[in-house]
Amino acid sequence: MSNWHTLRAHLLHGNLPSEQQALSLADCEDTAALVDVAAVLRDRGHRNVVTYSRKVFIPLTHLCRDVCHYCTFARTPKKIDQPYMPVEDVLALCRQGADMGCQEALFTLGEKPELRYSAARRALDEMGFPVRWSM
Ligand code: SF4
Repeated sequence: MSNWHTLRAHLLHGNLPSEQQALSLADCEDTAALVDVAAVLRDRGHRNVVTYSRKVFIPLTHLCRDVCHYCTFARTPKKIDQPYMPVEDVLALCRQGADMGCQEALFTLGEKPELRYSAARRALDEMGFPVRWSM
């Protein structure tokens, strides 16, 4: 990439790339050099500060209608104790997280499990949220 060295100097001098220059980075085959520039700019902007937010993970359900092969979260009804986490357990987990200094709650769940599993439909019905089918 003949323009790479020019663009690299441009970026390292603190300039933003134009739209065309930014798009040209997709053609850069020297990934190591690209990573080096990114690291310099990152360190210049943020030093070595790593931030995070304290949060509590709340798996409302592990059921999911999808079967993504990389997924380590979703389970089938036979492999779980209950389709949905009871409200009392959700609140208890929130309180436990707050006691431990968490400032956020991250609700995790699968995609519309009621479309795949009758166990999910029954559980929602029992919780007062009957599934209404619409086309
Ligand atoms: S939980 Fe997410 S990743 Fe896992 S199977 Fe469902 S949609 Fe896919």
